[in-house]
Amino acid sequence: MALLLICPTTAPEPWVNALKGYASDIDVRVWPDDENREEIEFALTWEHPEGVLQQYPNLKCISSMGAGIDHFLTDRRFPSGVPVVRIVDPELIQSMSEYVVAVTLSYFRQFDTYRERQLKRSWRQEPAPRARKICVGIMGLGRLGGDAALKLKALGFRLIGWTRSPKDLEGVETFVGDAQLDNFLSMANILICLLPLTSKTKDILNRNTFLKLPQGAYVINVGRGQHLVEEDLLQALDSGHLAGACLDVFREEPLPPDHPFWSHPKVFVTPHISSITDPVSVAPQVIENYNRARSGASLLYAIELEREY
Ligand code: NAP
Repeated sequence: MALLLICPTTAPEPWVNALKGYASDIDVRVWPDDENREEIEFALTWEHPEGVLQQYPNLKCISSMGAGIDHFLTDRRFPSGVPVVRIVDPELIQSMSEYVVAVTLSYFRQFDTYRERQLKRSWRQEPAPRARKICVGIMGLGRLGGDAALKLKALGFRLIGWTRSPKDLEGVETFVGDAQLDNFLSMANILICLLPLTSKTKDILNRNTFLKLPQGAYVINVGRGQHLVEEDLLQALDSGHLAGACLDVFREEPLPPDHPFWSHPKVFVTPHISSITDPVSVAPQVIENYNRARSGASLLYAIELEREY
């Protein structure tokens, strides 16, 4: 019996090494060079080709290689009835919090402005900004958003969050569902998207959303590229309504060389690096789920596909 990796857009070697390094006796195979497909019981995948999972009749579990499972939702021939799990990893969470804290502080402390002034040898001080006067709004207070909220709160910012169900995070005021979205947006000087990509959240960073933010708000998208309507962001930046944006994820990745985001003075681009799964860190979780799936035990971090996250 074996574990199969399907990751056409990611190098499989680090995963094979990490899994075998943690459990040397495990039989790891890599799509598409695998044989005897009836022997595969567990598939670990990222951006698998549509329909490919149907070629494995004895799958007991399908695991995402990352926190998100949106790549499962786009496969119209995803095997029904096979349990699905995702990655929840302290290093992934820490990494994302570092990124959003770094970007928030850099914007809040006006590092771009002082860098520009440095290049002009200009010694000019702005009044000191105060974190308590800045409201950071996080869309999605799950594993990633919840941790980022608490770390930003500890720095003195005012924190609010938007979720589907009520949350109890100390010092974080939570707004729930569509009915409370406008109130949430009207307060957020810095808006961070840490939502999963679902049919409800696709295109959620759009013109209407931006117009509801306070004048001069800053937007950070670390969810998925399809959360953002790119033309609407450019318009909101160029009209002066938004002060700037930091984008780590894009509708098309890699971001095409002629894309306006690359050279826009108010946009900071990073190449989907805010939080990358470390195979060594997550190997124990994957092997644990592999063993649980084979023995019929309940799985860690199981997902109900109907909920879409
Ligand atoms: P999670 O634990 O499932 O949390 C998702 C949060 O979003 C929950 O608070 C959930 O509300 C909320 N939510 C979902 N649908 C909503 C809706 N329609 N309206 C309002 N709130 C909604 O997910 P996570 O582990 O924090 O990860 C979040 C996302 O980050 C992933 O899905 C992935 O797309 C992205 N990500 C990006 C990177 C990167 O490198 N850029 C890396 C890792 C992950 P409830 O709490 O009420 O359920």
